[in-house]
Order: sequence, then C-alpha cells, then structure tokens
Amino acid sequence: MLACTECGKTADSFELGWSVFSLDDPDAPGEQTLVTYCAECLAREFGGLLRWLTYSGPEN
Ligand SMILES: [Zn+2]
Repeated sequence: MLACTECGKTADSFELGWSVFSLDDPDAPGEQTLVTYCAECLAREFGGLLRWLTYSGPEN
C-alpha cells in the first residue's frame, strides 16, 4: 500500500498522479530515502515545476 509522505493519504495501488522520489535523507546525510506524493501534494509541492515541464510554448 502507498502512503503519501506529505498528507498521509493512502492508496491500495499506484494511482494516477502519484509519484515516488529518491531524495537525500535529512536525518542521515549521504543516505537516500524514498518519499511518496499523492496527486494533490505533488501538484502543490511541484506544481510550478510540472507546469514548466509541460510548457509547450506560447499558444498560437
Ligand atoms: Zn498527499
């Protein structure tokens, strides 16, 4: 089962929009930790980045 690192929301399966990242663990320098974000938290935390990644130029 997945659990959102940010808000604690759970999902039985990998639902659309959920993402898992490997980040440096703030509690253990040099170690990697996995964090899971639900679609809502991903949009809130990385909304700007995702918009940039999907930016396809000025609309015609
Ligand atoms: Zn969440």
